[in-house]
Parts: sequence; C-alpha cells; structure tokens
Amino acid sequence: MASDEVLDTAALLAWPVERLRGCLVVHSQREELVRISPDRGLVLEAAELVWATPTEDALTKARELATTTGDIAGLSNVDFELLALVLERGVILVTDDYRLQNLCELGGIAWSSVTTEGIRSMWSWELRCSGCKLVIDAPKEPYPDRNLGNCRECGAELALRRRR
Ligand SMILES: [Zn+2]
Repeated sequence: MASDEVLDTAALLAWPVERLRGCLVVHSQREELVRISPDRGLVLEAAELVWATPTEDALTKARELATTTGDIAGLSNVDFELLALVLERGVILVTDDYRLQNLCELGGIAWSSVTTEGIRSMWSWELRCSGCKLVIDAPKEPYPDRNLGNCRECGAELALRRRR
C-alpha cells in the first residue's frame, strides 16, 4: 500500500490497526503515544507504520506557512513535523486539529479528518490576558515549551484564543 497519508496522533489512536498499515507518521509521535496511551503504543509498534523524519528544509517551510497564518503559537513539535512531512512528500494529512486543518486549507495542502466532518470555518488566533482581557495579535514566533508569557499591563497569564 502506498504511503500517501500522514496521520496525526488522534488518527493513530482512533483507527483500526489494519487501516494503519503503510501510513506515514513521525518519530516524535512515539513519545506522545507513550504519554497518552502506553498500551496503544505497543500495539502500534506492530502496525507496519512508516516512521519518518521530515527534512530541515521541510520544517522551515512548515514554520513559514504557520507564521503566515498566525497559527504558529498553538502548534506542537509533533504538529510541525507532521506538517513538514506532508509538505515534503506531497501527501494527505489526516487530522482533527483545527489549526492544522486551517493551515492545510491556506497552504493548499490536502487533508481529511479522523472522525469529524472537519473544518467549518477559517480560524485565526489571538492572545488574550486571563486578567484584564487585553488582546494581543497572534505571535509570529513559536514559544519555547508553549509558554505564552504574561500580560504587559497586569502580569496575568496570556491564553491563546480563537479570534471571533
Ligand atoms: Zn492583563
């Protein structure tokens, strides 16, 4: 079976093992799997998945795309690697993550959903203070450890929100 689908971790958890054969995944998903579902992780070792690592070039392209759309702050390393792999191989991304679906739409990348009907509208993102509700434009750079920082006005934690 041709490897024309990259699967996000939700698909790895939800799909029957037979359906996973030949599908592309990234090595960094192993850690995520072990954390979320150790038993499933063991099952998947036997599932004949194709474990891949995207090139640096593809990762750079993925970051550029996410920066363009303002989705960058909400993405994990695994998300970036999945996106990069899809860009590199010209294949389909299977994901229920709305940020990734949004990025695919805007980047002209084919995607399908794991379990849901998928995207209903384009989202953009903003940072909002949990204290004084100050709104800041979505950041252009990823945050280390997903730490979004604190409000410059009142010092309360910032949260990533969907812009309405
Ligand atoms: Zn504030």
